Amino acid sequence: MCSSNYLRRRNSCDTAAVGVSSSIERGTDYAEKVGMTNKVNQHDIAIVGGGMVGLAFACALSSMPLTKQLSIAIIDSNPALSSRQCFNKNAIPDSRVSTVTPSTISFFKEVGAWEHVEQQRHAFFNQMQVWDHTGLGYTRYNARDVGKDCLGCVVENKVLANSLLLCLQNADFQKTIYSARLTSMAFPDHKSLSARNAAGQEHGKDNISGASLTKEKEVKKCNNRFVKLDLSDSKTIHAKLV
Ligand SMILES: Cc1cc2nc3c(=O)[nH]c(=O)nc-3n(C[C@H](O)[C@H](O)[C@H](O)COP(=O)(O)OP(=O)(O)OC[C@H]3O[C@@H](n4cnc5c(N)ncnc54)[C@H](O)[C@@H]3O)c2cc1C
Repeated sequence: MCSSNYLRRRNSCDTAAVGVSSSIERGTDYAEKVGMTNKVNQHDIAIVGGGMVGLAFACALSSMPLTKQLSIAIIDSNPALSSRQCFNKNAIPDSRVSTVTPSTISFFKEVGAWEHVEQQRHAFFNQMQVWDHTGLGYTRYNARDVGKDCLGCVVENKVLANSLLLCLQNADFQKTIYSARLTSMAFPDHKSLSARNAAGQEHGKDNISGASLTKEKEVKKCNNRFVKLDLSDSKTIHAKLV
């Protein structure tokens, strides 16, 4: 893993592949190298869990003009997030699959992840039969009946997750993946914070001045305004939203 690999757009695997390691560094080191966070590992948003939902959320944030400037932390100890994985289309399919609907496909297209699914294993379907296990009743659905080409697509979960990861890797977006588990969280004490702010305003001064903050004060400011997240590797990060 090295930061020079960070901007590499595609990995070099011959098979349908997703290279994720180049965009993922161990929290602090990587963040400091590219200047994404300050010394106290502050982020706008921390996403706990880099599964399909967490990664999809991160991709959505990275693709929207209003949120793509934010600094995002993704916390997950799953090694799949931090190791290069090559998928061979001829390998035995993974039994964990999802049936994604046209609206999910639209979402994947909007965030730029569907093109990566298309390069990997997936199967569209245009008919479906649902039947009663205990009786003879059944119902059939056909995409043609609603003027569509397909009803959905069956995709292995690992293909969906890695397509989202590749999408994130390609995005020009401030993200840090922490390879650890969240162990505890502490929320800021809003009551004492608003009391302190009110007192500061009363005296005509900002009780937390930005430019001249020492690191110690900055840590204190984090404690006051950010959620504090403790990770299983003993790191601590701060985020405005979790
Ligand atoms: C057998 C089975 C079949 C399914 N089939 C379908 C289907 O056909 N279609 C469909 O739409 N859905 C299906 N689902 C549901 C689908 O898999 C889930 O809805 C989906 O995976 C949820 O995504 P997620 O990101 O919330 O959770 P997950 O994919 O489970 O990801 C959660 C992540 O959080 C991480 N994590 C957990 N605790 C911590 C912590 N303390 N700190 C940091 N990270 C943490 C984990 O490592 C994990 O990577 C199925 C589920 C199962 C179990």
